Amino acid sequence: MVDSVDAEGGCVCGAVRYRLLNTPMIVHCCHCTWCQRETGSAFAINALMEASQVLSLQGDVERTQIPSASGQGQIMSRCTACGTTLWSNYSAAGDKVHFIRTGTLDDPAQFPPGIHIFTSSKQSWVNLPTDVPAAEEYYRRSVIWKKEDVVRYKAALAL
Ligand SMILES: [Zn+2]
Ligand SMILES: [Zn+2]
Repeated sequence: MVDSVDAEGGCVCGAVRYRLLNTPMIVHCCHCTWCQRETGSAFAINALMEASQVLSLQGDVERTQIPSASGQGQIMSRCTACGTTLWSNYSAAGDKVHFIRTGTLDDPAQFPPGIHIFTSSKQSWVNLPTDVPAAEEYYRRSVIWKKEDVVRYKAALAL
């Protein structure tokens, strides 16, 4: 893949820096209660990227396993110095797909959510945009994703 996007990010203390080598396959804004607890906020925003398309520029991340809704656990990659979570990996795609926390990007506005999920548990004061798909729980990839991104996802899992 060509380095056609200019998207870098990092943790709060600056020790960890990374670059995305492609645009995300999709960006989830997840309103589930698990994400609310993990972030201490109302939702988590995760950009799905092939792990191979996330280039580490500097710094060390520590992987911490935490419980998840699926019961399979979720692995958080955090800066060893400041603890900021840069991305996580869920059991479905394992280490092959990173869920990048878009708030760690230098310019999070580059990649706004492509879908809001688990809206059944969203905070009542969060008003969803009318021009972005929303799912009460999860959704079918083939309905929401662009075809080429489904191809990317399957290719990532086949690695
Ligand atoms: Zn840090
Ligand atoms: Zn969630």
